Order: sequence, then C-alpha cells, then structure tokens
Amino acid sequence: MLNNDFSILFWGVRGSTPSPNKNTIQFGGNTPCVQIQAGKHLLILDAGTGICQLGKSLIEQKEQIKAHIFISHVHWDHIQGIPFFLPLYEKNHQFIFYGEKKDNTPFSQIIKNIMTPPYFPITWDEIKADCTFYEIYQDKTLHLDDHLTVKTLRLNHPDDALGFRIEFEGKSCCYISDIEHQKTTESQLIQFIKNTDILIYDANFTEEEYIHKKGWGHSTWQNGVKIAKKAYVKKLILFHHDPYRYDEELESIETQAKKIYPNTFAAKEGMHLFL
Ligand SMILES: [Zn+2]
Ligand SMILES: [Zn+2]
Repeated sequence: MLNNDFSILFWGVRGSTPSPNKNTIQFGGNTPCVQIQAGKHLLILDAGTGICQLGKSLIEQKEQIKAHIFISHVHWDHIQGIPFFLPLYEKNHQFIFYGEKKDNTPFSQIIKNIMTPPYFPITWDEIKADCTFYEIYQDKTLHLDDHLTVKTLRLNHPDDALGFRIEFEGKSCCYISDIEHQKTTESQLIQFIKNTDILIYDANFTEEEYIHKKGWGHSTWQNGVKIAKKAYVKKLILFHHDPYRYDEELESIETQAKKIYPNTFAAKEGMHLFL
C-alpha cells in the first residue's frame, strides 16, 4: 500500500435488513459497510452486517488494526454488525467511533446499548480492543491528519442521518446513504458533493415506487443521476439497495441509469474502486 493510495471497498450494499438469497447473491445481501483506505488510514463507513467479513479479513492480515468508524445513524441496518466485528474482542487494536448523540443519550451509550441482554448475551465490558467515542454533528470538519479530512452534512431521514465527504490528497468521495431527497435542501447537498470523484448515494427506490413510499427516508436512482449531473460528480455509485430487489432488477436499473449518466454503477459486495 503506497502512502497516497485512496481506495473504496464495499462489504455491504443492501438497505434496511440483510437479504441473502439466490436472487441477491450477485450484488450481495449484507447491510451497509464501506472500507476506505486513505494512505495509512483505515476508515469504515457504517457497521451493518458487511462489517463482519471485513473484521475477519482484517484479523487474517495479522497486524495491529487502527480504524476510524463513522456511523451515519443508528438504524439497525447501520450498526447490526458491531457485536460480530471480531477485532473488538482482541487486545491491541484501536477503534475510534464517530457518531451523533440523541437527545440526552451520549453516542458512546447508544453504541454500548446494542450489546445488552436479553438482546445480546455479551456486554460492552467484554470488549478488549481500545475503543473511543467521538461525538460529531452536522456541518463539522474533522482533520484526521494534514492530508485527510472528513466533512459532515445533515441528511433528511427519520431520526436524522449524517452524510460524509472524505478528502485525501486532492481527491474525494462522498457517502450519502439514507436520504430522502427534498427540494429545500437540494442546493446544500449539491454544494457538499460538488466535483467529487465518487458519490455513493441512496438509491433504495425507483421513482415509481417512491410515489407510495414518501416519508420513508430514502431516495431513488433517478434522483441520484439528477444530482450527480448537477454537482459534476465523476462517478456515481447506487447504494442501499432495497432488500427485495433482485439481481436482475439491479442490472436493469444500472443499465437505465448509464443511459442518462454513463459513469454509474450499482454497488456490489467486493467492488473495489481506486481514486
Ligand atoms: Zn439504512
Ligand atoms: Zn436509516
């Protein structure tokens, strides 16, 4: 790994709930988890069930792990993999979790509450890795080092969510999962993602489906294409696929989207992009 390498690897691309079956095997059934390598820095965006296999692969590298884990929001599909993220149960690894508090509950408590009987038999006290929690909020800029910056944006979603823009060595990628598009905040979104190299965008619905799903907190591939164009995005990745979307439907959506915005791809488990 060269010091200025910047890459994105998808471990979970499915929204709402895991959906492994013969009709989803090609794109994958794990819920959101995206690994970003920026030079020596490892970032993990969301901890859906995709983080389980990521954890296994990190352990197999037999090196000390340090990762920055950004949680967009704590709906089940974005945190469900945490209790099964094996490196947490080993000493010597270091994890910094970033996310929002809710009302009076600190972010650290929200994460620790996931592992509470009777929902899960192991509590956070049994975690061996060195974990710290860092509260973030909208419109924040974090400098992880002189070359690596993470910016946040409020996304329109039930219980709220954050979008992230990661900038490293003059390149950038944006993670906009779990957003319901709205006219009033579109210009803010476009400003946030402007000129980005890669936009990962919530394409849970089609426009036809969305008519019956207003208020559910998700966007459409058609809207992804529209804002990618407006913001001069270089590559659009359709993400957070509906759990009931079959592989052949996703292929068809990708084909339709490419006709309007050629550099569009439907996210797939194992897809590895280099910036
Ligand atoms: Zn979600
Ligand atoms: Zn959500």
